[in-house]
Amino acid sequence: MMRANFLLGSLISLASYGLGASPDTSSFSAADTIQRDIAIIGGGSSGTHAAIKFKDAGKTVVVIEPQAQLGGHVKTFTTSSGVRVNYGPSNFQNSTAVTDWFSRFNIPMVQYQQPGTGDKYADFSTGKELADGTLPHPDFGAYLQVLAKFPYLEDFAHLPNPIPDDLLLPFGQFVEKYKIQSVAYTLAQFATSNGNVFEQPALYILKVADIPYVQGIINGAVLAPASYDAQSVFQKAQDFLGSDALVSSTVSSATRSNSGVSLVVNTPKGKKLIKANKLLVTAPPKVDNLKPLGLDSRESGIFSKFQNKAFYTVLLNNTGLEEGFRYYNAKPDAGNTYNVPTLPVLQFIWATKDVDTYWAWYSCVNTLPDETVKANIIKDFKTLAPGSNPQIIAYSNAGPSGVGVSADEIKKGFYTDLFKLQGYKNTWYTGSAWISDHSAGLWKWVLGMY
Ligand SMILES: Cc1cc2nc3c(=O)[nH]c(=O)nc-3n(C[C@H](O)[C@H](O)[C@H](O)COP(=O)(O)OP(=O)(O)OC[C@H]3O[C@@H](n4cnc5c(N)ncnc54)[C@H](O)[C@@H]3O)c2cc1C
Repeated sequence: MMRANFLLGSLISLASYGLGASPDTSSFSAADTIQRDIAIIGGGSSGTHAAIKFKDAGKTVVVIEPQAQLGGHVKTFTTSSGVRVNYGPSNFQNSTAVTDWFSRFNIPMVQYQQPGTGDKYADFSTGKELADGTLPHPDFGAYLQVLAKFPYLEDFAHLPNPIPDDLLLPFGQFVEKYKIQSVAYTLAQFATSNGNVFEQPALYILKVADIPYVQGIINGAVLAPASYDAQSVFQKAQDFLGSDALVSSTVSSATRSNSGVSLVVNTPKGKKLIKANKLLVTAPPKVDNLKPLGLDSRESGIFSKFQNKAFYTVLLNNTGLEEGFRYYNAKPDAGNTYNVPTLPVLQFIWATKDVDTYWAWYSCVNTLPDETVKANIIKDFKTLAPGSNPQIIAYSNAGPSGVGVSADEIKKGFYTDLFKLQGYKNTWYTGSAWISDHSAGLWKWVLGMY
């Protein structure tokens, strides 16, 4: 239903704006006024992809992104050896949405091989490796049979109403009920940005470890750009968008109505007024973050229910770790948490394309000061490789992560209320809180929008 609405809406001509009163819009000269079919807030994976797709479909667009480069979580760092190393999204499910997106910019794809030659499971607080057999062999076949009962998880826009009670169980109880203990540790790694995984509504953990994701992993059927540089496609998109991408820019105020939107945007070239027929919001839908949009009580009443977790992704060198290994943090005595250590925690460390560089994933329930996160990570690296002097060479606060609501709110119909906001005041939304945790799912959803 919502897709059809957008389909119709996006074909409507730019007949009139009917902008509401906004105190400072009259002071903008023609040169400082940007008129577009669609304004997009957030130039991450969803926003950049949507901008290109709309533009290719003949629409005029403008993207507003606070960072200097497009791509959002997609981050790639050039090491001192000149190797481009990802520390954000790095591999993509083998789907038409993915292959279309990279081929749009003539970027060849290959089957993704995770860098590294072996895995070690160790308690990072002691550096002690787990005895063989401590972790069960994951039975993904059994898990996929469970997932098949909930076929809508890869696109939250298609959630049923009501949502089955089993999906509202804390994930730990879901594991027991469906007897999927063998995959519990691995799913906690997959869902690493979701706080204490076993306490979250199962809905959110299954949304991360959904059918396309799990099948991609067990069949080795995931793709990466041949260069392994995930940022490259966003750099090309940014070049293509040119002045349609307002980077290092933020919205300071907005007026939205059923006939159009106007946004006042702070850019490096001064304040601009954007008048657009429609607005697509891809930024995380937390009230604080969307405040400049002038949320009304209906919108803020819904968005204020969202909670989030914190998550950090970091590159280090000079680590003293064994070359080519991936290290997973596991606590042999973690009782009913399936060897998953308690948060905040450095969950795992991956070897990268650069033998000297390792990629660390740090997860917490609440945001921590950057210096605390860095110190905790360094401490664990030193425990794993005594006498080493690890250095952080790239750091990203990848929060707010795991944006969701309590099981009670889900039961009361939160997602029905949320999705009714699509199109309200000519404002649409996408991103991981709305649709999927995976780029493929997000890009596929946008393809259905026009
Ligand atoms: C470390 C890590 C690894 C991942 N690996 C993979 C992977 O391999 N494959 C995969 O498919 N997925 C992966 N993911 C999931 C990935 O995040 C999503 O697939 C996708 O990148 C989410 O895109 P998005 O556009 O919703 O969010 P983002 O990419 O986060 O984009 C949101 C954008 O909105 C901007 N923004 C925020 N607030 C505002 C505001 N107020 N106004 C304007 N702009 C704002 C941000 O700066 C950002 O650019 C990974 C995520 C992380 C964190």
